[in-house]
Amino acid sequence: MSSETEVVTYEVRGPVAVITMNRPDFRNAQNSKMTYALDAAFVRAVEDAEVKVIVLAGNGKHFSAGHDIGTPGRDHDVRYENKAALWWDHVDRAGGDQRFARETEVYLGMCRRWREIPKPTIAMVQGACIAGGLMLAWVCDLIVCSDDAFFSDPVVRMGIPGVEYFAHPWVMGPRAAKEFLFTGDRFGASQAKEWGMVNRVVPRDDLEGETIALAEKIATMPQFGLALTKKAVNQAEDLMGMRAGMDSVFGLHHFAHAHNAEVGADSLGGMNAKTMKGAATEQNGSK
Ligand code: ZN
Repeated sequence: MSSETEVVTYEVRGPVAVITMNRPDFRNAQNSKMTYALDAAFVRAVEDAEVKVIVLAGNGKHFSAGHDIGTPGRDHDVRYENKAALWWDHVDRAGGDQRFARETEVYLGMCRRWREIPKPTIAMVQGACIAGGLMLAWVCDLIVCSDDAFFSDPVVRMGIPGVEYFAHPWVMGPRAAKEFLFTGDRFGASQAKEWGMVNRVVPRDDLEGETIALAEKIATMPQFGLALTKKAVNQAEDLMGMRAGMDSVFGLHHFAHAHNAEVGADSLGGMNAKTMKGAATEQNGSK
């Protein structure tokens, strides 16, 4: 299947690099192959002096359904080149040692690296942006979404306090974050805009045009000025506690995984892609 041979595509349009997740048959579920391909694409865009702005997109009807917890291409037990060397590789480890190693590298660590890319990034979001998909949108500087976009973090259903990159209280405010997490509900684009979680909501047909136009506008600013400005806002966000908060919540997250493994079937509380989707359907009365 072609969508499995190239899980991420890379295209340069003038000053804009468009990095596209390409597993549309699986709603762009993020497996490790995709994670490392995204990392390589971001490095390429950073190193290309002609590229001023990076757009992160998802091919097909949906931006991303989250981390791959059940497609045929799930590859959590495959060893990839551990470029970031944030921790040792997880493959030959067991229990909490394995989970902590894997999630430090491919989830929290990679997301933090991508947030700190010295060029402006824009997430272009349509359809589903769920759990791990939120992490990919949140690490981008701006989020432009179409009116059919919807967002949710349903992992509390697994007994886990949110996804690994715990930005919720900072990207939508603490009260919205609690409703978002406590209910696991899907929230639409206009609600996300009201919370300040996204910059713009546009009609589905205009999503690409509006996003590229915004990227091109930003690209006219001086590159080093943009890099320093991005760093300035990120530093301010970290001074609002985001980085330290995430570190402390990462401990709770792993305590929840360990608790699940200790008392139940597995670290995900016995949930998989199908049961998670079924629960969401029941909750919302929609497909
Ligand atoms: Zn986890």
